[in-house]
Amino acid sequence: PYTFEKSRAAFDRALQVIPSGIYGHQGPTEGCYIPQTSFPLFSSRAEGTRFWDLDDNEYIDYMCGYGPNVLGYADPDVDAAAAEQARLEDVVTIPSAIMVDFAELLVDTVASADWAFFAKNGGDATTLAVLTARAATRRKKIVFINGFYHGVSPWAQKLDYPGVLEEEVANNLYVDFNDLPALERLFSENRGTIAGLIAQPYMHGNFTDNTLPEAGYWQAVRALCDAHGVVLIVDDVRAGFRLDLAGSDHYFGFKADLICFCKALANGYNVSALCGRESLKDTVSSLHYTGSYWMSAVPFAAGIATLTKLKQLDAPAQFARLGTDLTTGLTTVAAENGFTLIASGAPALFYLRIADDDSLMLHQEWVAESVRRGVFLTSHHNHFINAALTSADITRTLEIAHEAFGIVRAHHPELEPTA
Ligand code: PMP
Repeated sequence: PYTFEKSRAAFDRALQVIPSGIYGHQGPTEGCYIPQTSFPLFSSRAEGTRFWDLDDNEYIDYMCGYGPNVLGYADPDVDAAAAEQARLEDVVTIPSAIMVDFAELLVDTVASADWAFFAKNGGDATTLAVLTARAATRRKKIVFINGFYHGVSPWAQKLDYPGVLEEEVANNLYVDFNDLPALERLFSENRGTIAGLIAQPYMHGNFTDNTLPEAGYWQAVRALCDAHGVVLIVDDVRAGFRLDLAGSDHYFGFKADLICFCKALANGYNVSALCGRESLKDTVSSLHYTGSYWMSAVPFAAGIATLTKLKQLDAPAQFARLGTDLTTGLTTVAAENGFTLIASGAPALFYLRIADDDSLMLHQEWVAESVRRGVFLTSHHNHFINAALTSADITRTLEIAHEAFGIVRAHHPELEPTA
């Protein structure tokens, strides 16, 4: 199995000069919940579906940079388009007209988009969506779905998180996904005061099986929002362009008023977008909202190349096929070792969990043994498929996963085989 001496030495240096060494979900405390002795902490290069860590260990990567790697790391077509734009210009006093080309492409591609507004991170887009809903309706309240993640702006955090003021979350209302009676109740109890409802297209939360919408759910939510004058915001930052290039709302058969994109938009180049319907365009124009790098041209060129190639490949169909092959194979090799592995969510963004392991300790062990043999998974977050993944990569993944399950089985003679 791999060892991680150089990663650990770099992390010791990082702890001296960077808060928590590596912050956020990429870090070893929040990010993987696996002992650092079993996990790489820094990468050194990446290509296709693989990356190499600082100790030069190689991984088939099922996290895809937490989403941005949608075509394969260092995709030659995207990188060539970005390099060509970089030779011309990137950040300049006035924007490049390539911004218009990219907006036109998004409007042509995304079913619910009549316009596009560009920023950098997913949280820029979700924050703009909430500002827009409040400005358009002159109402305060926002409905969230329990288990949500919309970024780290104070409005999207929770009251018990450090540094968040009561006032910043005082207008947040919460309801469970797929619970229409509860949503109807919430809407009538707060009649005339709800500006927007923000939701991921399906629940791809952490530490829990991912949940798809029940038949008719989204259509009923759409009708309720219309009846109450509530702006329907779809946060497609994570699932966007992996289920359907026309948007995940389109995939589930409804139309959002506002839809937020980021991760898969430009294969790792830094750009996010809020798209929306014509009737909200003037409201967005009226807002005080911009950033130093939001109109940089290189990511627009990368985004155009990414969307064009995703269309050529019919990538979402490929993701569904590869994701299904992989998760079916993983549940089989789990069963061969006496474990029940549960795969949930869309196959393109599969979530894994070993059954009868509420503490996730067994699951963490299996993930750690897989990672130490070259298959990069995480223990509590959904995974991602990219277009560079091949059947040969899946075959190799299943061999390693099988070996890792065997090791966990051998470590736990006390456990009855479940499968
Ligand atoms: N919404 C969802 C559904 C996300 O998955 C994320 C990022 N994980 C965000 C919003 C925030 O995006 P960012 O980290 O780029 O601000």
